[in-house]
Amino acid sequence: MLIVPEKLIAGLVSPEDAFAAVEAVFAAMSRGDAYNFAVVREALGEGRQYGFKSGLDRAGGQLGVKAGGYFPGNAARGIINHQSTVFLFDPETGRPTAMVGGGLLTALRTAAASAISIDRLARRDARVLGMVGAGHQAGFQLRAAARVRQFDRVIAWNLHPDMLDGLARIAAELGLPFEAVGLERMVEADVIVTITSSPAASLMAEHVAPGTHLACMGTDTKGKQEVDPAILGRAMVFTDEVAQSVTIGEAQHAVAAGLLTAEAITPLGDVLTGQHPGRRSASDITLFDGTGVGLQDLAVAAMAVRRATERGQGTQVEV
Ligand code: NAD
Repeated sequence: MLIVPEKLIAGLVSPEDAFAAVEAVFAAMSRGDAYNFAVVREALGEGRQYGFKSGLDRAGGQLGVKAGGYFPGNAARGIINHQSTVFLFDPETGRPTAMVGGGLLTALRTAAASAISIDRLARRDARVLGMVGAGHQAGFQLRAAARVRQFDRVIAWNLHPDMLDGLARIAAELGLPFEAVGLERMVEADVIVTITSSPAASLMAEHVAPGTHLACMGTDTKGKQEVDPAILGRAMVFTDEVAQSVTIGEAQHAVAAGLLTAEAITPLGDVLTGQHPGRRSASDITLFDGTGVGLQDLAVAAMAVRRATERGQGTQVEV
């Protein structure tokens, strides 16, 4: 099998590659050509989470698993809180074909999913981007969002305001005016990306104007929550996968509160394949509940392996 270490990924997979790979696999899921297996997620104590996301993509010929999790003490050790590795297998024989560093790929595939939702569901005339969260993933989210709409400014809130400097630097690189604001100012945003590890809602219904698109990307586990369930109650809700959305995604809370049903949630892939029209009017609130599916990980890891193989990079080992 081929080992593609983390340090090679940046030279192998671009944000544009991740966008194309995730679009393709969301469409394959919508057509029934690819499916995710049940997520395993375990709390290890002290805020540490560990688990497995896996799936089979018949169309793309991928079978595999991402093993990893969230280790909040890592930042103090100088490494990122998310740690993960993707393992790919030959779907015909079950033989392992690759082991791929999953850190940057996770950030790229998560930002790609959010950007695909913005591309397909936000109003074309969206001008103000609101960011809620400023951790490791937030910069990737900001860059990806800026690729799909012509924003003319960014407003941002974070529970820990000192972390906003990093986002401000990225906005400056992108040539976008940046302002740290209170949550009540999010009502000015046309697109809001939430990317926090919060256990309770920060963004409330009164912070969201009609016509807004929200990409809620931080809630990927039972017990996390970023937004008021009332927002999901009145929004058109989309997701990567409905089964994950109602159990580990942002929708878990709105479903528990009786404000939303699984049947009312649309896979984003259905918009990509034309089975669902997406936004109906300029005043709809659209919300993408991005829970992160194993097939996204396999899609970007497979791309890294293809590129590494073409370029003679990585290390072949016998297993
Ligand atoms: P990080 O630890 O680098 O940053 C955490 C962020 O959450 C910071 O902005 C912090 O200020 C904020 N925060 C912490 N506690 C909070 C609270 N109580 N209320 C409000 N905000 C709070 O983490 P990261 O790597 O940027 O990841 C952010 C979240 O995204 C995590 O929950 C992670 O599990 C999730 N995630 C989801 C996907 C997906 O596919 N959906 C992929 C990767 C990460």
